[in-house]
Amino acid sequence: MFLQTSSAHDAPPGRLYVVATPIGNLDDMTRRAVAILAAVDVVAAEDTRHTQSLLSHFGLQKTLCSLHQHNERARVDYLKELLAEGKTVALVSDAGTPLISDPGATLVTELRAAGHIVIPVPGACALIAALSASGLPTDRFIFEGFLPAKSSNRRAALQKLVTEQRTLVFYEAPHRIQDMMADCAEIFGADREVCVGRELTKTFETFISGTAKAVVDAIAADHNQTRGEFVVMIKGAEAEAPSDDLSAATIDLLALLGSLKSKISPSDLASAVAAASPLKKRDIYKQILALD
Ligand code: SAM
Repeated sequence: MFLQTSSAHDAPPGRLYVVATPIGNLDDMTRRAVAILAAVDVVAAEDTRHTQSLLSHFGLQKTLCSLHQHNERARVDYLKELLAEGKTVALVSDAGTPLISDPGATLVTELRAAGHIVIPVPGACALIAALSASGLPTDRFIFEGFLPAKSSNRRAALQKLVTEQRTLVFYEAPHRIQDMMADCAEIFGADREVCVGRELTKTFETFISGTAKAVVDAIAADHNQTRGEFVVMIKGAEAEAPSDDLSAATIDLLALLGSLKSKISPSDLASAVAAASPLKKRDIYKQILALD
């Protein structure tokens, strides 16, 4: 059994803060994020130059170290040592919440496995910002991150989601948005409701909502709509209406046997089920006897 409880309350001083930063509008930086960045010993950043300008904006001068997808593995041991010495580290990405389609997952997993304290400092996240203003159902959604870049792989990934009833959320790059939306319209159907959030929190923030075909056409008609950063949201599939066709019904066989057990002898019941299914009478009989 695996169980771990961690609390910053009475833990040793070394710890990692996972700090969200703005996705465009610098006013979305939280006061707590600024205070934490000011207080830590080291800031681990996806792109140190990018983070340097964020820190300068808030009047901070910090020791930076890079942590990106190509060196994360190597950085883990170094940062683990810093924490073991009682140092504090903040992890930031270029925009939004680290680890959400951004580096940091290996670091957090390994630090927690080594018993270190990891503290989230929440803030901006493009998928949450987009969903919150999309008008699509938000009670249940799934986040798929970036789809594969290759068209055939992307279409195969979308195909697997056709019957998904939760709202689907994707990140997409500007040079792929048109192809991706065209694939969505074809695979989910021209009438599936979608919403594309672009350049959130920035000057040209735009939401385009409508049927998949209408949104594809709107983006194709205005080249500006292919610029910037995108969150694509697709309404989930409608739940299938219950069918009154008995031959197509899916039956919970064990529940049915349980309710018939007191009315028909187990042997007769097993014979009847065996006659209408590929199951063996002997196996069904055993299961009937085992039912409470
Ligand atoms: N960690 C980030 C977060 O919390 O949202 C996401 C990082 S991921 C590398 C970058 C992608 O997030 C972009 O390609 C885009 O799909 C989405 N994104 C980031 N900022 C955005 C914005 N201002 N408007 C729309 N989408 C954005």
